[in-house]
Amino acid sequence: MSYVDDVYRGVVDQNPSQTEFHQAVKEVLDSIRPVIARREEEYRREALLERLVAPERQIIFRVPWIDDKGQVHVNNGIRVQFNSAIGPYKGGLRLHPSVTPSIIKFLGFEQIFKNALTGLPIGGGKGGSDFDPKGKSDREVMAFCQAFMQELYRHIGADTDVPAGDIGTGGREIGYLYGEYKKLTGRFEGVLTGKGKTFGGSKGRVEATGYGLLYITEEMLNSNGMSIKDKTVSVSGSGNVAIYAIEKAQQLGARVVTCSDSTGWVYDPEGIDVELLKDVKEKKRQRLTAYAAQRKSAVYHDKKKENNNQWIIKTDVALPCATQNELNLKDAQTLVENGVIAVCEGANMPTTADATAFLKENGVFFLPGKAANAGGVATSALEMSQNSERLYWSFDEVDSKLKHIMVKIFHKIDKAAREYGMEKDYVAGANIVAFLKVSEAMETQGVV
Ligand code: NDP
Repeated sequence: MSYVDDVYRGVVDQNPSQTEFHQAVKEVLDSIRPVIARREEEYRREALLERLVAPERQIIFRVPWIDDKGQVHVNNGIRVQFNSAIGPYKGGLRLHPSVTPSIIKFLGFEQIFKNALTGLPIGGGKGGSDFDPKGKSDREVMAFCQAFMQELYRHIGADTDVPAGDIGTGGREIGYLYGEYKKLTGRFEGVLTGKGKTFGGSKGRVEATGYGLLYITEEMLNSNGMSIKDKTVSVSGSGNVAIYAIEKAQQLGARVVTCSDSTGWVYDPEGIDVELLKDVKEKKRQRLTAYAAQRKSAVYHDKKKENNNQWIIKTDVALPCATQNELNLKDAQTLVENGVIAVCEGANMPTTADATAFLKENGVFFLPGKAANAGGVATSALEMSQNSERLYWSFDEVDSKLKHIMVKIFHKIDKAAREYGMEKDYVAGANIVAFLKVSEAMETQGVV
């Protein structure tokens, strides 16, 4: 058996039932086969891949908190510090009932490669809890965040591990987490990113993942003789990534006709009203039914009742921006039948492995999340730089750095794919570029 297959078999045996983690590892290992083949014996002797697929550290803890009625609840708390070869661990905290060690490990593993692609000195980590902020009062969310930080603070720091937001963790949650960290340690430092702008948060961080997704999508289309202008775009999700992807797509002249949440999706042929969407989702924290109720051109679809989703709509570009494995083989087949040109992942691993393969086989341009959504963590790293300097940069300065980073990521992965004989396979290109960088740092630092 080849070295890659040996290592993958070991991952499955040692992490039984962690299917999302297996999926993420398999995608990376499969696409770096040609790189490994060039130095297989050395990598094997150094156990480089075994070290790469094993987190440096995993912290699992309980999070007890009290609800508004006086009832005590206990949630899980997880932080996976995956790889620090190129910088302090960096990656978000997910608050969602579906959070398990498998989900956090797949996200942490992906984060190693994404962070390497940004060109900035940040290692890979991820964390979270099965706590669901949805439907909780602000006081309950604060109680949970304070309890979560009462353990997490021992393991993080501005130069060791710098968490940020993710699903369910937005500005409100980061604020409560930061307040508790400061109280426990007495330190005001850049230990979290995505902070409020009055206490160290970077301008442009809220917009960064969605805007970055459009910058790299546009660069890919341009380099293949096309543009996002006048294209029809369908987006899934209606959270942080989705909202700012929609906003930037519209600024670039596209017509975005869908968005979704976990219960339903909206088709709005006149184009999503992004200000209304922000009001519904960011300010009032309502469901998409509230958007449809206030917008004549919008039609609401209940996912369960109708057993369908936004990928049935004919579109040129699809941007999955909600969650993992939300675009399956059947969705990919429908998109291809409807003539989709490109699928670019705003979320982490939103496309199943068979759907990705089908899209690529059918000539659809496909940008993987680790490249396409890297703008969020890149801007988080810019927030870390500003915090270290005790300075604030303007929105335009941050946005232009973000654009530069995204354009550069596209050209790096495009070039690597060509060099390894896999032209336009941006999944392979992304994994190869990131692997070469991280593995070189690991080899140089010795067996640690
Ligand atoms: P938010 O919590 O702001 O929004 C998540 C959106 O996805 C909501 O519309 C939510 O609907 C929907 N969603 C969540 N879980 C499910 C599910 N199981 N099924 C269907 N829909 C679901 O999260 P973000 O926008 O921050 O994150 C979205 C994705 O982007 C995630 O994969 C995240 O890891 C990734 N990402 C985020 C970055 C960031 O900077 N925020 C950076 C890089 C990647 P509902 O409200 O009904 O739950």
